[in-house]
Amino acid sequence: MCEFCHKHGEGKKWYLQAQNYSEDLLSDLRRREFIQNFFLNPERLNEDVGKLDELKRLPSFVRAVVTPVLVNRQKRVHFGQVIPIEEVERIFGFVNSVVRLPCICRQATVGTEQRYCYGVSMVPQGESQFGQIIRSIDAGYLTGPDTSGLETLSKEEALSNLRELEKKSLCHTIWTFITPFIGGICNCDRSDCVAMRTTVTMDFPVMFRAEYVAEVNPDLCNGCRQCMRVCQFGAMGYGIAHEKVVIDPRRCYGCGICRASCTKNAIALNDRSKVPLAANLW
Ligand code: SF4
Ligand code: SF4
Repeated sequence: MCEFCHKHGEGKKWYLQAQNYSEDLLSDLRRREFIQNFFLNPERLNEDVGKLDELKRLPSFVRAVVTPVLVNRQKRVHFGQVIPIEEVERIFGFVNSVVRLPCICRQATVGTEQRYCYGVSMVPQGESQFGQIIRSIDAGYLTGPDTSGLETLSKEEALSNLRELEKKSLCHTIWTFITPFIGGICNCDRSDCVAMRTTVTMDFPVMFRAEYVAEVNPDLCNGCRQCMRVCQFGAMGYGIAHEKVVIDPRRCYGCGICRASCTKNAIALNDRSKVPLAANLW
């Protein structure tokens, strides 16, 4: 179990606890203000990346002190964790509503509306406070005339969309808005997603590994290497001698995207806690 399960899930998977999606948490004025400010200004994400570039240029001993402080702050405010599709299904089993909205990361990096984000909530009927907060923001890319705004989806529609995104190699992640409140599921890739870029290429973790690690069954693998093309984390290698793919558990984020691409069903996800090399890597 990761530290988030211990802190926010009483030792169970924290993102499967309904109270972490509750409208009660959303009543907190500080949280509402945070969400508004978060979505109001996509450019701020690019500014944050600029600040991390500056951090990288600091002497290593200064970085060693400052980075953990900043990462811990991020964990208290807004962080993500990779979840494979079966965990998304479990979440959809108990949330009551799903809305699709434009991705703020892609708005910042690509400058166009890319509808990769899914707000989830526990409101039994009507619109969740999350939806109301978003609608109250004067942000052109969210609410202007050229955007589809918030689309209400059935859970079946949303799950089907997420499966399609998985085929495009996008990795599902779950996000807090002032922890432990969970507001949504994103679909990340390394080129356009600020969070994944920051985590993987800038060595400043804002999204953390899944509770799983992938493993290839060499008896089923035919060495086609399709899975290697879709792994965003550089966790896969090809063994020339035995002509099979192998996964480095120390690099694997447990997203399951490689599994979705394998026509031989040669890839499975194992509990991270049972993989000694990866058990304490998040
Ligand atoms: S996609 Fe499947 S069969 Fe092809 S190399 Fe990867 S694990 Fe092996
Ligand atoms: S090897 Fe790990 S990180 Fe790479 S795609 Fe597969 S599950 Fe994701």
